[in-house]
Amino acid sequence: MTILVVEDEIKIVRFIKKGLEMEHYTVEAAYDGEEALAKAEVNNYDLIILDVMLPKLDGITVCQRLRAAKVETPIIILTARDTVDDRIKGLDAGADDYLQKPFAFGELVARIRALLRREKTVKATKLQLADLILDPATHEIRRGGKEIRLSSKEYRLLDYMMRRPGQVCTRTMIGEHIWGYNFTEDSNVIDVYISYLRRKVDQGFANKLIHTIRDVGYKIQDKSPAKNFPRPERKNYPN
Ligand code: CA
Repeated sequence: MTILVVEDEIKIVRFIKKGLEMEHYTVEAAYDGEEALAKAEVNNYDLIILDVMLPKLDGITVCQRLRAAKVETPIIILTARDTVDDRIKGLDAGADDYLQKPFAFGELVARIRALLRREKTVKATKLQLADLILDPATHEIRRGGKEIRLSSKEYRLLDYMMRRPGQVCTRTMIGEHIWGYNFTEDSNVIDVYISYLRRKVDQGFANKLIHTIRDVGYKIQDKSPAKNFPRPERKNYPN
């Protein structure tokens, strides 16, 4: 789950980012209205937290433009002023919810959960590959019935790959998704995290699910013979 936080006050961005990452969300930030529009139009975020008071373009306008561009991502507006006017404008502009600053972090998380629950559909269903099951609703991971405990980054990495079974996840894709724009390609941090995941997910199992695609990246796939090489059905043709 990736959330875009749009806010020009760096302290608030840091506060939200840190808290949400502990809740296993991936967080990207935009610091003005134009950057927000640019990012939201090309990236498929699960939710946007949008401050009203922003440089270049205000949050209400950003919200209107996103909706006009058919971006349907749930949006929570942050209003600094306690004016009913701002909230009404936000909701009229297509926001799904609003929160007044200063807010308690717990309330923000509760509202995010409520909105994402409303969105639920495919995203809330459990992800399964062979005997590995990831439940996005509870963040529980099990393999062969046994619970696997992952750090926040490990969890997001596994979630990302399990949503793309059999597809190659390049280092760039993984890096940008998990580490965001701070990611530098020459870093071996992804390989390190993949090795952590392998230890927790694959070690001790004959059926390895995490595969290396040399020089490109990684993929998660169930390569057990029963699944991928079904015997061709015999057809009896009349002689
Ligand atoms: Ca602001």
